[in-house]
Amino acid sequence: MGGNDVRTSARRDGSVLLLSGGLDSTALAALERPTLCLVIDYGQRPAPAEVRAATAVTDALDLPIEHLRLDLGDTGGGLLRDDRPLPGGPSPEWWPFRNQILVTAAAAVALRNNLHTVMVGTVIDDRDRHADGSPAFYAALDRLFALQEGDVRVVTPAIDETSTALVGRSGLGEDVLAWTVSCHRASLPCGQCPGCWKRAKVLERLGLLQTPGP
Ligand SMILES: [Zn+2]
Repeated sequence: MGGNDVRTSARRDGSVLLLSGGLDSTALAALERPTLCLVIDYGQRPAPAEVRAATAVTDALDLPIEHLRLDLGDTGGGLLRDDRPLPGGPSPEWWPFRNQILVTAAAAVALRNNLHTVMVGTVIDDRDRHADGSPAFYAALDRLFALQEGDVRVVTPAIDETSTALVGRSGLGEDVLAWTVSCHRASLPCGQCPGCWKRAKVLERLGLLQTPGP
């Protein structure tokens, strides 16, 4: 596979996967079977749904999960926080520096568990929306961690795959994928945000979970 090198299989000390309960991180959980999954409530509106989805998915996949709470509400903006996108943002759901903070928090949790790899389920579709979904961003974060104590690395095994390809490759069926959520706005999927649209499009392309329109 492409992406920055997939060190997960080469490293013997295990990994922490950032699990949002969405399609991409769920597919990666099934494929890579990380030592620990981590779901983070950082003050985003859909946090209860993400925690519920991540818990259900890890139950179904028989993987361990840890919950982390970080109150980043006062640093955020856009659809994940309220209905007012931040001025000048690249997308309505832009939350400045979110990925940098969450991956760093996951690295700290990794060290507390004597693990040294953080895995992120970013896909090629993400880099068009945010600079912090790009290969250059994750390579820089990996280098930044390497400059600090702890010997934590960042891996993004699906960064050169589309979401559709990743979910298809996972072989997961509706029994697991039905638990996933991707809504940016609410704990009950709104069906009207970029997260909901992307999830519906991927599932439709794979011929899964087709629901009648309104
Ligand atoms: Zn939505």
